[in-house]
Order: sequence, then structure tokens, then C-alpha cells
Amino acid sequence: MLSLQDSVGNLAGVGPKRVEDLKTLGIFTVEDLLLYFPTRYDSYEIQNPNQAVDQQKLTLQGTVMSEPVIARFGYKRNRLSFRLMVDTEVVMVTFFNQPYLKDKVELSKDIAVYGKWDAVHKRLAGTKIVNITTNQNSVDAVYSTNKSMKQTTLRKFIKTAFTAYESVIASLLPPKLIQQYKLIERKDMIREMHFPSDDTQAAEARRTAAYEEFFLFQLRLQAIKMENQQKNGISILYRNDELKDFIHALPYELTKAQQRVINEICRDLRRPIQMNRLLQGDVGSGKTVVAAVAMYATITAGLQAAIMAPTEILAAQHAQNFAKMFEGLHVNIGLLTGSMTAKQHRELTAQIKNGSINLIVGTHALIQDSVEYANLGLIVTDEQHRFGVNQRQKLREKGEDPDVLAMTATPIPRTLAITAYGEMDVSVIDELPAGRKTIKTSWLKTNQVGVAWEKVRQELEQGAQTYVVTPLIEQSETLDVQNAQDLFEELQEYFAPQYQVGLLHGRMPNDEKDAIMEAFKANEIQVLVSTTVIEVGVDVKNASLMVVYDADRFGLAQLHQLRGRVGRGERQSYCILIADPKNQVGIQRMQTMVETTDGFVVAQRDLELRGSGDVLGLKQSGVPEFKVGDPVGELKMLQIAKSDAADLLLTPDWDTQTENLPLVEYLTIRKLQTHFD
Ligand code: ADP
Ligand code: MG
Repeated sequence: MLSLQDSVGNLAGVGPKRVEDLKTLGIFTVEDLLLYFPTRYDSYEIQNPNQAVDQQKLTLQGTVMSEPVIARFGYKRNRLSFRLMVDTEVVMVTFFNQPYLKDKVELSKDIAVYGKWDAVHKRLAGTKIVNITTNQNSVDAVYSTNKSMKQTTLRKFIKTAFTAYESVIASLLPPKLIQQYKLIERKDMIREMHFPSDDTQAAEARRTAAYEEFFLFQLRLQAIKMENQQKNGISILYRNDELKDFIHALPYELTKAQQRVINEICRDLRRPIQMNRLLQGDVGSGKTVVAAVAMYATITAGLQAAIMAPTEILAAQHAQNFAKMFEGLHVNIGLLTGSMTAKQHRELTAQIKNGSINLIVGTHALIQDSVEYANLGLIVTDEQHRFGVNQRQKLREKGEDPDVLAMTATPIPRTLAITAYGEMDVSVIDELPAGRKTIKTSWLKTNQVGVAWEKVRQELEQGAQTYVVTPLIEQSETLDVQNAQDLFEELQEYFAPQYQVGLLHGRMPNDEKDAIMEAFKANEIQVLVSTTVIEVGVDVKNASLMVVYDADRFGLAQLHQLRGRVGRGERQSYCILIADPKNQVGIQRMQTMVETTDGFVVAQRDLELRGSGDVLGLKQSGVPEFKVGDPVGELKMLQIAKSDAADLLLTPDWDTQTENLPLVEYLTIRKLQTHFD
């Protein structure tokens, strides 16, 4: 029997080499291939230039009015041009670097040209001559491909797959919803996405695909949530008196917001269900101490607690912090990272297994299968947005279903947070500790960089320290970015001999990184030049200035994170962005940073400024990736899909009804798949 889960290798014409090529695009099964949707469509429908919008891509048909002329400039570059009479309008058509098209352009003959329309000068920058007889009224799907797979080959494979499997494509969406929203059947949706009959049908298909994607995403999240709620978790009966003593002994008073979220967490810990809570709080809002309280509570109940950080530097910093915070208490800390020797790893995991270590700090080495826990009660993840839904689920399955607290400094707007992390409960720290001074942010052009160095010197003279961040570590031929190494040497010279400059980058061995970080913390280094390895979490209170080179190469969320590295103590702090943004969006990003330090405002602006195609950027900001749907522009649809998914899951016996069987099967397969990654 044919199944959409068949390997693409089952398709006629797809041999082992092609199977490998398809893998590079993330395509393994026939379904993957069928759901590999085009990134855009080129429409060859003949249009009237009077109704066309400036800069629009379109096809014009007309009579060739002048002999085509080729102008050559330099090696390999040339331009073919001719005049075309479209209705009563004369249009100038140009083609760059396609001189061979000259043969297809004959005086007095009719042709159709596809290209970009310049309405002001009545010019068409052609990309293609359209075959009038075969291409008329058609739309071509264009896919994102790579070196090992040509556009035409991919299109052919999709065609083969669709023809062979069309009969087994069942709609996953409940018929009721398809009717209610006037969606189309899955089979038609897939056909129209790849081989659209016309623009209207293509739009309908896209709407169905987006809704289906949102609905399935929500269904998975909520199915996980329901299953988790049914499972019995550990009831962590912590010692309230000991917890109170610990909180009183802290060197500062907790903020109202910190107290509130600690209460929410402690309530979850006691309940015999598995906690699954997201803790949101802007940079510097004091999430670490909240985690410390939750972990200490767990330890007083005689259980182990673990905290997972995205980088080794952060893990090491946490270990150090906690060692100080828990001094004199019955807390034994172990630091588990990927860069330990086999012997160290063996000794440490033995102590974790026998329970003599009760607070485990580490990177994702923590959730590897080789690590066994004696009695794990709570896992905390720091900087949650670095981890995906599957890793989140893997955490929960460690040991005896421990409680999970996920912390993130990415202040995605609450509506979106609830939808993106639909399987979790959300707590928010919406208040900074008292006495924090607002970080003053300014934006300089590259030619004003001297001003920045003077500011650095001023701060150093006050006894404060400075971060300098650059985007890339090695000179790259294609990107004109500041090189951290060069900059480091330049600054060393500039500040010698009074001040020490250090360099930190991702390619350095870990012990070297640690040594540099230690030296900076100890104020043996005053200026730290770094790539974004310091992006998250690092806490040095004496640092008062953050200088970011080529700031327009960073996303807003990242810039906000970077700025959060300063202003963590009593000092008035500053952030200087150095950038020559090339477009309006870049300029607005810089202005946003200058205007506000509120992470939620930054996040909202960030979402507004991004195009929906900016998937990578969305990932950065903690919003999950969707192939078709746009979780920002189509948030409404995402919310509707969320409540539809919830309604379905609450319908008695929904999963035994015949019409829902394809959906049940889909959920089962996805669930199995989460165990592979
Ligand atoms: P983040 O939420 O960005 O992880 P941290 O937990 O690193 O922030 O806290 C930032 C700084 O604020 C730390 O130096 C911490 O000691 C301090 N801090 C946390 N809570 C308070 C508080 N209630 N009052 C004063 N300082 C606090
Ligand atoms: Mg932190």
C-alpha cells in the first residue's frame, strides 16, 4: 500500500544519489516532498501595462517594433534592448546578460515577455521570453533549492510524487472546519500549491495550507499538554522554613514580580502533576534567583535539581553563582559540560547517579541518554528560546518526569507567547529590581567611531569596564565586516599601557574562553572584544559600556540582549551602536534601540519591522518556524486554529471517528518522530 510516509527513494527516477540530494533540503518522505512548497510564483498571465503597479513582476505581450540591439560593457556584461508595441503603448524592453535571446526577437512578430515593470519610464526589465502558445495563463512555482538540486529536477520529482500518490492524500482537517472556513481538500491544496491553475486558486491553496499548518502545530502542542496533565508528576514537598531562611539571607529584597512568580512555581512544585512552565522576564529582571529558589526548594525535599544553559560560559557562570548563593547549605554542585575529559565525565555521572550531587549545572550534555539521575525533581532551562519543542519534550521525559521550568529573556508579545508555547503555562517578571538606571543608547556612523573610543576611555578612567562586540571572527571575502582579531589588536595599541584588552570568540578552546571571562570578571581585563558568544546571560556588574560594531547586522532581539549585558549594577550605563544601515528597516531598528529600553516594545517593533519571509530572524526571537503561515501577520488565524484544536481534543471520542482517522495517524507518526531528534 502506498503511504505518504514512504521514502522518496520509492519514486520512479529517484535513485540513491537523489535521495541524498533531497535530504539536504530536509526532504525524506513523499509527504516531505509534497509539502515542500514554492517560495513564490511567476505569473505568465498577459497583463495590461496601464493597470500594472510600478516594480511589479508581470508578463506583457506585444509586437516587436525595433530590431533588437546588443550593447556590451566589459567582460561578459551586456544588454539586449528593443521596443515593444503593447496595445497603443510603446514599451522599452531590456534583458541583461542573455544575448542569445536576440534570435527569439523578430521585427514585427508578436512576443510575450516576463519581467519587472518600471511604470515611470514605461520600461520592462525582462527575465524571460514566454512561449505564448504553451505558457498562456499559467503560473510557475519557484522553489528554494541548493547546489545539488536544480529547480527543474525538483519540479519534476514533485510532479512524479503527486501523480503517484494523489489517490492516498487524505484531508487531515476535520470536514466541519473545511466547510466552515471554505477551505479546500488537502489533495487540491497540494496540487494548487505546486501547479496553480490561476492566482485565485493559488491564494485559496495558500490559505488552506497556512491554516492546516497552524492547526496541526496547535494540535500537537495541546495533545502534549493534555497528555502531560494526565500523567502523574512528582509532588515536591519542600521545606517552607528552609526556603524562607534562604530568601531572607539574599543580599537584596526580591521584587514583587519575583515573589509572585516564585509563588506560582512553588504551587506547581507541590502539586502531583508535572509542572511545565515558561518564565518570561526581560534581561536583568532577575530570573536566576527565581531559578535558585525553585531548585533549592526541590533540594530541601530530598530531590535533585538541574539547570541547563545554552553555552559553556553561561553554565560555568551559573555554577559559580550558585556555589556562592548556596554556601553553607546542603547543596553539592556538579558542572557537566561537553568539553570534560572522559574520566571527569565518568566520575561526575557516577555521583549524579548515586545522588551525592544534588544540583547539576550544565549544557545540553545534561539530557544525554548516558546521564542517569538518582531522583531528579526539577529541570530548569536558561534562555529557553534556544531550544525547540522537541528538546522541551525530551527534558520532560528525563528521569521520573521531573517538573520543568523554562526561562527566556526574549520578550515576545504575550499573545504570541501563549500560542508559540501553547503546551506551557506562562509566568512573567514584568518589573526590574529597584535602583536600576536606564541604559543610555546612542547610534554612531562608522566615521564617528573616534567618539566611541573616547567614551570608552572616559568609562575606563571611572574604573568601569567595556564590552566591544563585532559580528564575525574571520575576514570574509563576501562580507565587509569588522574583524574581531584586527579590532582587538587596534584597541590594544590604543589603550596601552594603562588598560588591558582581551579577545573572546567562538572558535577558542573552552579553557581559554573561561580564562578570558574570569580575567574580565576579576577586572584584570578592562576592555573585552568579543563575537556574540557573550550574547546571553553573562553578568559582570562593573561593565558600564557596550559598543556594538556593524550593529545593523544584528536583529533587534539580539541587540537588546547585548545591551542587557550592561546596566546590571549601580553604574550609569551606556550602549553605543556603530552602523551605516543601508535601508529604511535598518535605520528604524537603530532608532528603536535609541528610543526604548523596554524589551516588550523592542520585541513588538521587531515583529512589525520584519518581513514575514525572515524565518531565521523569527527563530532568533523565539517564535517557531512555519513553512507557509506567518505567525505575526496572521496571528488571528493562529489563534483561531488554537481554539479549534482545543475544541477538537475536548470532543468525546473524536479520535475514533472515521473522519478523523487521518489526523489520528498523523499525530501518532509525529509523536514517534520526536524521539529521533
Ligand atoms: P536575568 O533575568 O537577565 O537572567 P539575572 O538573574 O542575571 O538577570 O539578574 C541580573 C542582576 O540583578 C544580577 O546581578 C542579580 O544578582 C541582580 N538581582 C536579581 N534580583 C534582584 C533584586 N530583587 N534586587 C536587586 N538585584 C537583583
Ligand atoms: Mg539570565
